[in-house]
Amino acid sequence: MVFTSNISQCRTEQLEGMNWKQPWLARTPSSREPSPGVSFPGASAGSAASATARPRSHEDAGDGILLSSGGRPALRVPAGSSASKMEMMADDYDTGDILRPLVFRLHENVPAIVREVLLERGWTEFDKKEQDDADWNLYWRNSPFRMTDHHSIKPWQRLNHYPEAVRITRKDYLARHLKHMKGAYGSALYEFSPVAYIMPNDYVKFVAEYSKERQSVGRRHSYWICKPVDLSRGRGILIFQDIKDLVYDCTVIVQRYISNPLLISGYKQDLRLYVCVTSFSPLTIYTYEEGLVRFATEKFDLGSLDNIYAHLTNTSINKYGASYDKYKEGIGCGCKWTFSKFRSYLRIFGVDDVLLWQKINNIVILTLLAVTPLPVASNCFELFGFDILIDDKLKPWLLEVNCNPALCVDCSIDDTVKRKLLHDIVELLNYKQVDTFRRNQVPGTKAGRRRVPWGTAGESATGEAPGLLTCRKAANCASASSVRPALQAAKGSICRVATLTEKSARAYPRKTLTSQLRERMNMPKIPSQAKAEAKNKQIPGAGRSPHKSAQLSHWLPTPDFCTYELTTRPYFLSDKDQRPIPRVGDFVLIFPFNEAALQASRDGTDVKSIIKEMNKLGSKQLVSKQQNAKKRAGCLSSV
Ligand code: ADP
Repeated sequence: MVFTSNISQCRTEQLEGMNWKQPWLARTPSSREPSPGVSFPGASAGSAASATARPRSHEDAGDGILLSSGGRPALRVPAGSSASKMEMMADDYDTGDILRPLVFRLHENVPAIVREVLLERGWTEFDKKEQDDADWNLYWRNSPFRMTDHHSIKPWQRLNHYPEAVRITRKDYLARHLKHMKGAYGSALYEFSPVAYIMPNDYVKFVAEYSKERQSVGRRHSYWICKPVDLSRGRGILIFQDIKDLVYDCTVIVQRYISNPLLISGYKQDLRLYVCVTSFSPLTIYTYEEGLVRFATEKFDLGSLDNIYAHLTNTSINKYGASYDKYKEGIGCGCKWTFSKFRSYLRIFGVDDVLLWQKINNIVILTLLAVTPLPVASNCFELFGFDILIDDKLKPWLLEVNCNPALCVDCSIDDTVKRKLLHDIVELLNYKQVDTFRRNQVPGTKAGRRRVPWGTAGESATGEAPGLLTCRKAANCASASSVRPALQAAKGSICRVATLTEKSARAYPRKTLTSQLRERMNMPKIPSQAKAEAKNKQIPGAGRSPHKSAQLSHWLPTPDFCTYELTTRPYFLSDKDQRPIPRVGDFVLIFPFNEAALQASRDGTDVKSIIKEMNKLGSKQLVSKQQNAKKRAGCLSSV
């Protein structure tokens, strides 16, 4: 049984909602569930109020940004106006209707595009001196968070790393996990990763394999690639065929070199696939439909193994190559294509790119299954960069998995793909209006730690639908001292958004632009919202700074991380049916792929059942594919 033919196509089924009639997958692929109380442009307006509050794009607002609120006059912020003018306008306006922006926090060395995108969306940057410790919604860093950061996470916050995600992003760890899976579930299933030896530990095993190959008559001699386990960007890599050329002075993996890559006009390329895991427990995986095809900038030639510009596809290397800026026939200038362009190219040559992508998605699922279980942690996510090489038989190979995939912008293709990717990530994080208040503010509920069973349909962590707290209530509850910095932050954000308007209107798609406004708008009060507001008049802790509220201390989980339980309903679940949202922007949910997979990943990850399910699904699809082919052949012969 060959993996690629047996467990393919789960994605087709997922997208078409064919076999397994899940309401959460039956929706159109491009649908994105709006948050409660939010109306999207184009969505059918349920009421006059919601029609009034329909978010408008920057372009709609003419020479300024129109911040409208339900049934109230809009606050026009003229682009380019001074901060003081802005302040006056904001101060003059009823504070109850001023929107609090979402707040991001960046650690050093985070690529500039992350800040740019968040500012484009109307977020403000966390200011340590002005704001309280917990007064942020997204913390982005390039290194792992401390366990205490995970322990003290608040419902309105998200962290961009999962604890211990390094288990698959270090080359030796990944090799070890995949080897273990090969042993446990069969090498056929896991044969998408080239054979690898971890040096120096596996030196004897490598020599044995090498010698066996040399001694067998007529067997082609493999090429090998030696990579330092914890370096990236092609640093320290060596390709060899003769063992006498193997030298290393740190821990490395020696991997069989794929010497028959798919070449386009003679150039090697690999795929940088973006994968976002919103939870490891239960496992929830999204792959990004758009991505980068990274070309080597000199023609592939096994006769010159030391030519890094012919054998390595890292942009960090090729951008310094002599041919980078030159026009390369069949490829163009630079060293990148988008997935869209690549897939169109494949289709021209009759390649079934959908099938290829199904195989790639299966690789992603099987790889991530290899590292489960990871410690349970709520409100975090991990963006991985999977490096996939396709060989000349159209078999995809997993080369490695990167945490912190490069977000630097080297060319216009980078800008287009990465900017949209970041916007879609923020969409995936599913912030609600209530998150802008950054406090535990639902009355009548203890803000303490509690376990929230993932599958409990309809039950939110707070006992009420999220997004019920209005701006007015927050203004009433918080002390003047806490409101003022928020207002200042809002004004700062407005200015920055105004200056970014022109740029962002060009830079990211209209759909996201409106979503950005969604985050900044005062939405009309839905009836339950108004009810909650009235009920909340006596909110405990009113008049105190929300961040210093004693309520917060109830919320903190205990430090025993292993027994840590989810404290809020997972943010990535749809409000409608408590299941992962099937598609957000260009992110497509690939796991769980059916009801059985969902059940098998609910309380711990039952890898065996999931793999069984993948196999079952694959065989079913194979049969239906064969039947379709037969039908097509029948039609053709009758013409
Ligand atoms: P790094 O983390 O340093 O980028 P990678 O494992 O991604 O290391 O390897 C860098 C490049 O080397 C890849 O982008 C690919 O072009 C090439 N490469 C790596 N492993 C293989 C392999 N087994 N077969 C063929 N090419 C490989």
